[in-house]
Amino acid sequence: MPDITTRDTVILGSGCSGLTAAIYTARANLNPLVLEGHEPGGQLSITTLVENFPGWPEGIQGPELIENMKQQATRFGAELRMSHLDGVDLSKHPIELRVGKDIIHTRTLIIASGASARWLNLPSEQALIGHGVSSCATCDGFFSSGKEIAVIGGGDSAMEEALFLTRFASKVTLINRTETFRASKIMLDRAMAHPQIKFLSNTTVEEVLGVEEKDVKGLRIKNRASGEESILPVSFMFLGIGHIPNARAFKGMLDLDEDGYILTQNNVYTTLNGKILPGVFACGDIQDRRYRQAITAAGSGCMAALEAEKYLEEHGH
Ligand code: NDP
Repeated sequence: MPDITTRDTVILGSGCSGLTAAIYTARANLNPLVLEGHEPGGQLSITTLVENFPGWPEGIQGPELIENMKQQATRFGAELRMSHLDGVDLSKHPIELRVGKDIIHTRTLIIASGASARWLNLPSEQALIGHGVSSCATCDGFFSSGKEIAVIGGGDSAMEEALFLTRFASKVTLINRTETFRASKIMLDRAMAHPQIKFLSNTTVEEVLGVEEKDVKGLRIKNRASGEESILPVSFMFLGIGHIPNARAFKGMLDLDEDGYILTQNNVYTTLNGKILPGVFACGDIQDRRYRQAITAAGSGCMAALEAEKYLEEHGH
């Protein structure tokens, strides 16, 4: 028999937004349950130094910031569980969640499952994340000061990252796998006109060099037209090939945009067919394709928690 419990609040995800929601709902005595998800700690847990989170003048390591938030949430009574959602029925009240063998009923649900950066998925790339491979120029750009670097992608994110990184890097090579660019003309023109940015089109990255040294030493790249391979001597590789919101479980149950981000009204209210879905809130990167910063994720986590609290109060809990 499955274990069935009823909670006031369940939070999906343990990144910045989920843990902020946990701190606020715990302090409101809602005894939130946080399902930590497939990537506990979210994107911050794979970052190194975070220098733009207010309150840490010398910066703080991403995993440490997450650990601090976890401690803060549990101190006020949040329960963190190393598990993830296996099924959900948002049409039931309370909402029904399936987690392994257990069924959890909850009066409010805060969806903070984030978005995952898209990677090339090369073994060498994965081995060097945090050691010269990054998916966040805003977080790690500073470490590329004075170095020659590569940015991968042909969309607006890649152009924006490349332009931003010219503040630090001595030279930026933008590698696009086709001849055409998905970026808007204005962004593409700006990047192309920049003297520090060089373009390599129709080119793929085959391997990131430096796995043994634990530091990026270059890229083995391939021209798709000629098949010719060469080594690009760079000491940083930034991915700008998009993000994947972790909202697949809600397809058909909530309104999503064309790329799968949860659409929200009034910041954190979810909808179905344009109508607000009572008691179900979304915060952080799963509903934010624009800012995607730790501090904005934390901010919307706070909003979701306050709205969940208000909802419960209005419904007599
Ligand atoms: P996009 O989906 O627009 O572009 C992704 C890019 O990455 C494409 O060039 C794509 O190539 C490439 N790519 C995807 N997978 C791979 C792979 N495995 N290997 C190599 N290349 C790959 O994502 P963005 O993040 O750039 O943009 C998302 C949205 O956010 C867009 O709507 C964009 O306009 C918006 N945005 C706006 C900004 C602004 O206005 N300042 C800044 C940043 C984003 P291919 O074309 O071959 O598939």
